[in-house]
Amino acid sequence: MTQFDLTLQESHLAHLRELLGRDDGTEASAYVLCGSARIHSDPWDRTCRQRLTTHEVLAVPPEDRVSASGNHVTWSTKTYVKLLKRAQAEGLVVGIVHTHPRGPEQFSDQDDRNERELHRLAQNRNGTGTQLLSILLASDSSIRARLWVDSATALPHHSLRVVGRHLVIHREVTKVASEVFSRQALAFGDALNHQLRHLKVGVVGCGGTGSAVATLLARLGVGNLVLIDDDRAEATNLNRLHGARRSDADAMRPKVDVLAAEITGWSIGTRVVPMQAWAGDLLCRDALKSCDVLFGCTDDHDGRLFLNRFAYFYLTPVIDVGLAIDPAMESGFRELSGRVTVLSAGAPCLICRGVVNPVTAREEALKRAQPEQYERQKREAYVRGSGNPAPGVVTFTTETACMAVNELIQGLIGYRGTEGWLWNQTRRFDRFLDHRPGTHQSPDCPICIDHMYWGRADVDPFLDRVG
Ligand SMILES: [Zn+2]
Ligand SMILES: [Zn+2]
Repeated sequence: MTQFDLTLQESHLAHLRELLGRDDGTEASAYVLCGSARIHSDPWDRTCRQRLTTHEVLAVPPEDRVSASGNHVTWSTKTYVKLLKRAQAEGLVVGIVHTHPRGPEQFSDQDDRNERELHRLAQNRNGTGTQLLSILLASDSSIRARLWVDSATALPHHSLRVVGRHLVIHREVTKVASEVFSRQALAFGDALNHQLRHLKVGVVGCGGTGSAVATLLARLGVGNLVLIDDDRAEATNLNRLHGARRSDADAMRPKVDVLAAEITGWSIGTRVVPMQAWAGDLLCRDALKSCDVLFGCTDDHDGRLFLNRFAYFYLTPVIDVGLAIDPAMESGFRELSGRVTVLSAGAPCLICRGVVNPVTAREEALKRAQPEQYERQKREAYVRGSGNPAPGVVTFTTETACMAVNELIQGLIGYRGTEGWLWNQTRRFDRFLDHRPGTHQSPDCPICIDHMYWGRADVDPFLDRVG
C-alpha cells in the first residue's frame, strides 16, 4: 500500500491563506501545481510512498468563479483544463485547494462528488493514472490533504510538512511516554518528544561532526536515522569519531556501521539504518527522499553541491555543518570557527555563500567516477589534487554539531523565538564571537533566486544535473 505525504512551501501556505480568506465567511478556492517524488522502499519500514511538494500557487481567475456561500464554492473548469495540459507537459500534479471557514474540519460528501468528477476529467484528458490532489484549509490550524489515485480511492495524507523558515509537521502520532526523555519534556513539553520520535533524519557524512550530530540526535529522541558515508574508520579518526573503538579502526569497519552499532546498543528507541555510500549514489535516493530533514556533515564540495540542490528540489531542509581550523605560522589561528547554514526554500544557497567551490566539486566528481583520468589530469596539473589532511579537534567538531542540532530544535519549536531558523551562523572559538554572516545572492542563481526548481521533486535527469 502506497502512503502519501505532502510538503507545502511556507510562503505558498501564506499566499493561499491570503488568496482564500474572505471577510464574509464564504468558501473560496485556488490551484496548486506540485512535484512528485516516488519512494519505492522507505529505509525504515520498507513501505512504498509518494511525496508531493508544492511548486506553484495559482488563483482561480475572477471570470471562472460561479458562486460561493458559507458551505459551498463553485467555479468553472476552464483554467483547470489548461493546468492539466501544463501539468502533463511538465510532469506535475494538479491540486485544488478550498476552504471550510465554518467547518466541517473534514472533506464533505459534496467534496467527494465534485472531486471525483474533476478527477474523471483529468483522467479523460491526461490518461489513466493521472492523479488529483485536494487540500482543505478548514481553519487556521487544520490542513487536510488527499490524493485521488483512481475513481474510487482518495489516499489521506500520512504526513504533511510546511517548510520554509520553520519545519512544521502535521502527523497523527501515537504517544509514547518514555522515562528516558522525561527530563527533556520538563524543558520543552511532551509534544516535542512525540514529534522527534516520528521524525526521519538523514546524516550525510559520519566523520567528526557527523558522528557527533548522529549521537546527539539519538540522545534527543529522534526515532528514525539514516547514516550515509562511504568511509572506513582508521586510527587517525579515533580522536574525534564518536562511538569508534581501536578495534573498529584495526578492522577498518565502515564509519556508518560503527556509529549505527553504538546508537543501537543504547536501546533508547532509535531505528538506525547505515548506508555505506556516497550521498549522490543511486542506492541512497529513496533514503534521502524519505527524510524530513538532512544534516550535511560531509567535507567534500561535490557532496555539498549535491545536497544544496536536493534541499530546494525536494523541499527537504538541509542543515549544513562546517568547521575550519587553520593555525597561523607563528601562533594563534587564522581561522578557528564552526559554521551552521540552513538550506530551505527562501534561504540563500551554498554557492551564493561561497561555501562550495564548483571547480573543486568537479574535480572530486572526476576522482570518484573516473579515477584514472583524474590521476592523469593531476599529473598534467589540470586538477589540483587534495591537499594535506585537515586538522580535527573533538571539542570543536562536537560544539559545531551542538550548534547544528540546536538549530533543528529551533526550526521545530522556536525555543529562541518565533522567527524560525537562522540561515547562517558562525562561532569563532578563539575569540568568543558569534556571527550571522549575510550574503549577496547572485541575481540569477538558478537554485535560490529563481524558483523553477523549488518543489520540482523527481525530474529526469535527477536534480537536473547532467554528468
Ligand atoms: Zn468542501
Ligand atoms: Zn544561490
